Amino acid sequence: MVFDESIDAASHCGRAALGMMERHGIPAYPDNFAVWYAFVSGRIPALSAAIDAQLRGGAPFTAEINADLFARFIAFPGNENDLAALARRLGDAIERVEDCLRDVDKGASHYGVTLEQFSGKLPCEPGDVGLPGLIRTVIDETKAMIDINRRLDRRLSQSSGEVARLREDMDALRREATRDHLTGLANRKMFDSGLIAATRAADQDGRPLSLMMVDIDHFKRFNDTHGHVLGDQVLKLVARSLAEGIDGDALAARYGGEEFAVILPGVAFSTAHALADRVRAAVANRVITNRRTGQALGQVTLSVGIAQYMPGEERPATLVQRADEALYLAKREGRNRVRGDHPSGDES
Ligand code: GH3
Ligand code: MG
Ligand code: MG
Repeated sequence: MVFDESIDAASHCGRAALGMMERHGIPAYPDNFAVWYAFVSGRIPALSAAIDAQLRGGAPFTAEINADLFARFIAFPGNENDLAALARRLGDAIERVEDCLRDVDKGASHYGVTLEQFSGKLPCEPGDVGLPGLIRTVIDETKAMIDINRRLDRRLSQSSGEVARLREDMDALRREATRDHLTGLANRKMFDSGLIAATRAADQDGRPLSLMMVDIDHFKRFNDTHGHVLGDQVLKLVARSLAEGIDGDALAARYGGEEFAVILPGVAFSTAHALADRVRAAVANRVITNRRTGQALGQVTLSVGIAQYMPGEERPATLVQRADEALYLAKREGRNRVRGDHPSGDES
């Protein structure tokens, strides 16, 4: 979503958003603010409708509801349309099955009435001229019933084919919703939930857990010099190098922009440090070339911060913060290096 209000209008929207958030007891965190700013500016009608419905219902805006609004309308707005389309298709498929069942019901009732009429007329003498006619009617009705059942069978198998396709589409959508489109790595949403799960698991099984935060050095300069298309190629290259450098339960994610994060369950600080340094060296040793022209564009380097989870650490955010601080130390000390918040307290 691109906002292009004037400075005055944007200030007005910002103030109004903060006022509304305060009234509804919503903390003014950046994600929440993006949602309420968009609401006040009226730029996303579906978001406005969702918030209006929530306001009408009178239920409080819990942290989950706020996170859901952010994910659906700000972070992954495309999925909202895809999901709406899937829901419509699912509704259509169910309606078709209901139509089939209504037809069966009609056919069966008609058949029942015929049989009843037939049995009512049966007590007639053998040889009665009416009997062959009655039998004829029952045979015709039976044939009609068989016909209805065949048609029903065809329509039901069409519907179950559509339901199977829907299931595949939903699986693809679920995969899409957790992947970063450009690099194919896990996206930020997947990283956040992966880190919560990994810290929980580390608390339970007592195994070490390390986190690696990676940032491309002077990437703005690279983009400014060579353009965003080649910049995107570099992002893909770094993503590939990270994915190739890890195995097992590790999860590599695009954290945002030109930053990546790797969750390393079962990996202690020094191993994580060595692994990070291998990835750093692998990227630094590559000469980046423009595939189209063959022109050598030089070197791209990474700065990396490592932190090991301290069991019971209050929130995963603290772990991210420690790895981030180590990353900025790597930047301050000259880039193209790995720094860590060592568990014993010494920085390396
Ligand atoms: P530092 O070494 O301090 O990290 O410097 P930097 O230039 O890498 O950092 P800065 O935060 O100033 O700039 C980050 C740049 O990353 C700016 C932006 O153009 C670029 N960037 C972020 N996301 C993308 C993307 O998806 N594609 C491309 N090509 N560039 C991106
Ligand atoms: Mg950065
Ligand atoms: Mg950078």
